[in-house]
Amino acid sequence: MRLVLKPALSRSWRDSETLQFGTVTRYAGVLGNADKTLCEFLELVDGTRDRPELLSAGERIGLGREPADTLLSELEETGLLDDAEATDRALSHFPRPHRDLLGPDLASLSLVHSGPGAAPAVLARRAETRIEVRGAGRVGAAVAAVLAAGGTGSVTVADSGRVQPADCSPAGLPPADVGRLRSTVARETVQRATGRPLVPVPRRKSDDPPPDFVVLAPRDGSAAFAGGTYEARLLLRAGVPHLYVGVVEEFGIIGPLVIPGRSACGHCLVLRREDEDAAWPRVLAQLADNGPGRARTPACDTALATAVAGLAALHVQVYLDGGRPPSVDGWCEISAGDGMPRRLRLRGHPDCGCLWQPLPPG
Ligand SMILES: [Zn+2]
Repeated sequence: MRLVLKPALSRSWRDSETLQFGTVTRYAGVLGNADKTLCEFLELVDGTRDRPELLSAGERIGLGREPADTLLSELEETGLLDDAEATDRALSHFPRPHRDLLGPDLASLSLVHSGPGAAPAVLARRAETRIEVRGAGRVGAAVAAVLAAGGTGSVTVADSGRVQPADCSPAGLPPADVGRLRSTVARETVQRATGRPLVPVPRRKSDDPPPDFVVLAPRDGSAAFAGGTYEARLLLRAGVPHLYVGVVEEFGIIGPLVIPGRSACGHCLVLRREDEDAAWPRVLAQLADNGPGRARTPACDTALATAVAGLAALHVQVYLDGGRPPSVDGWCEISAGDGMPRRLRLRGHPDCGCLWQPLPPG
């Protein structure tokens, strides 16, 4: 392990002998008695030496082996150290120029995941992850591009038909591609986000293993209301975690993120809406594709769709990186009217059965 002071952290003097690592005071690490020798030693923690080499260097510059050892332990406990060797290994999963583009992402991961080597391990896991996004509209295509840019190894987008002006957004499908096949343009958008050459990829075969995660983002935003569909039941049965996301009228909705058998599912949300409004299923049926009540010009604010896509991609990453985003057992709403995100809680619905446990034997 070659130790390095996390390059993501700024350094500033709080007074003549107190050094602060990081800008946000609440999260900053503070080092007292930072004299000239100690600062000289810190310069050596640059990712070119392992711990024994650093201890020898500490002795050589007059800091002493033991004080150097104590200092390194303090830096590690405060979350200021990373492993440069693991960082190089993680980045080697990505070809250039994607590797260079990921620098700030990895720097951010190093602040979220504390110990030496923790952030590179997360990035290496992302490189092995396969995500399928269903829907190449303003939200879906942008979610796919952002996830790919953030290091997800394989992001595929499933959709049919040809690109319409209403599908396009600065973070997703470009307006110049109106009229081309959605599946092709979505694939190119994903590749462009990682700096990779635009090349065809093999079609998914029916006997391929299921993806690690599915984002349900149909173009009409109906994912927000569509839990309990045949598609959702298949995902539950296969144990594939999935996230509902979409924009409906002036509302953006992110969630629920469903961990099969462990968190409330999309059907739980449908049942809850039915509890609140008995006419809801009847209204919903008329909004379906080609339904009589469908809006003639479905609303989708570009800034709202981009914010929704960004938040959805962040929730997927947080979940796959080992965290618990607020869309688990809940969902988030953003209104184009005020831009204020809100989180609503979702419990498993007693009539759904997705969280029923088998009775213990006997
Ligand atoms: Zn359920």
